[in-house]
Amino acid sequence: MTHSQKLRVARRRFAGGALIALGLLTLAVWRMPEIAAWQWRFRAGKPAFTTSVITLAAPLRWFDDYFAVADLGNSTYVISEPRYWQCNFSYLIVGSRRALLFDSGPGIRDIRSVVLSLTQLPVEALPSHLHFDHVGNLNRFTDVALPDLPGLRRQVRNGSFQFGYYQFLGFVEGFPRPTLSVSEWVKLDTEIDLGDRRLTLLSVPGHTPDSVALLDRNANRLFAGDFIYPSDVYAFLPGANLRDYATSAERLAGFTDEATRIYGAHGCESLPNVEVPLLHYSDLLALARALKVANTSWARAGWYPRRIPVNDRMTLLAKYPWMKP
Ligand SMILES: [Zn+2]
Repeated sequence: MTHSQKLRVARRRFAGGALIALGLLTLAVWRMPEIAAWQWRFRAGKPAFTTSVITLAAPLRWFDDYFAVADLGNSTYVISEPRYWQCNFSYLIVGSRRALLFDSGPGIRDIRSVVLSLTQLPVEALPSHLHFDHVGNLNRFTDVALPDLPGLRRQVRNGSFQFGYYQFLGFVEGFPRPTLSVSEWVKLDTEIDLGDRRLTLLSVPGHTPDSVALLDRNANRLFAGDFIYPSDVYAFLPGANLRDYATSAERLAGFTDEATRIYGAHGCESLPNVEVPLLHYSDLLALARALKVANTSWARAGWYPRRIPVNDRMTLLAKYPWMKP
């Protein structure tokens, strides 16, 4: 081989290598939500627990060595897991005929003992969305409701609901996917009848495509799941959709006002002090504004996820507007 032939071969190899590298980089950028989930997996891999001494703010009180509860008035209770690093908060809303458990925690401990101490009525469990830290106890309940979405209905095989891998996301902390038998499919924007009270199930896609919130119109309360809560709000994992999130925020603003009490599903904001994650209308408007910024600009602090300030209690961790859900 002459010198010029060798040079040509080397150039061709270099060009081929560069093309492959560019292809891989494009693929990595395109799949950043999944990569972010895997980063969580390699960073954690198992649930973390707070070892410092936790102080509960009233009305929260310890139920046992793991769960904390609070009576929010109006036959509504919150069940918290302050030792688990995500500080999940699930809500038990009791009517005259039955009760609804909105979210159920990661399932590290059986939540039914707490529920049973608060009501003797039949309890139906309904998750705000299908991430592992909200559905962990669902298969311990006989009555489980899911929002009536065609996509979710298609996930029922041989009578049991099969979670999607990224929909459940439990691999990040080593939780295996459970199977569920769904006893009720609740139509979106309809009311759930608990006897003497009714709750409206609102579709609020954004954090995930199947996210829902519960509106208690009479008490002017909104149970928001992971849509909004103090600290870092996640809009960067697989399934998150910035445009839907912004639309849902505006929609929720239409159902709420300055007097609405908005309850979120996580309350780690000021560990080791734990308080009920209560937010207000102004917080929802601030989130709506941050989502608008997320949708219209590539601005960022941090490469991925982008950290977009919401207000002094929240930061939006967001995808890029050009990213598909
Ligand atoms: Zn979630």
